[in-house]
Amino acid sequence: MKEFGFQKQKDRQTDLDQIDLSQIASVLQIVDSWKRCIGCGSCAAVCTAGQFSSFNPRRTQMLARQGCYSTLALEVAKCQLCGKCRLVCPRDVDTRKLMHELKQLQISLLP
Ligand code: SF4
Ligand code: SF4
Repeated sequence: MKEFGFQKQKDRQTDLDQIDLSQIASVLQIVDSWKRCIGCGSCAAVCTAGQFSSFNPRRTQMLARQGCYSTLALEVAKCQLCGKCRLVCPRDVDTRKLMHELKQLQISLLP
């Protein structure tokens, strides 16, 4: 078979039925205000870590909700827990506490 230098892309869909979201549900219980997030991105606009890296707290929250634990672990480690995101959140989500809990979760998920 002739090789053209192309290959089929790996499927990047997330099958939510295959993901254990119980850990995220426990974080939602601890940080109840997370339910109010509307994904506006204000937290990402002011994020201290985001000014020095590709970190984005809004995207990190999405990764958590989708159960993308391996990427989540890499991302949440960049948060400096400065709390600036909490000050600007229009929905009063306790984002600093959320990041702290996601960091704890990331540690517990490590092999
Ligand atoms: S600022 Fe608040 S409502 Fe907006 S994306 Fe961040 S956590 Fe969600
Ligand atoms: S607490 Fe973390 S996510 Fe929030 S602004 Fe600071 S570095 Fe960014």
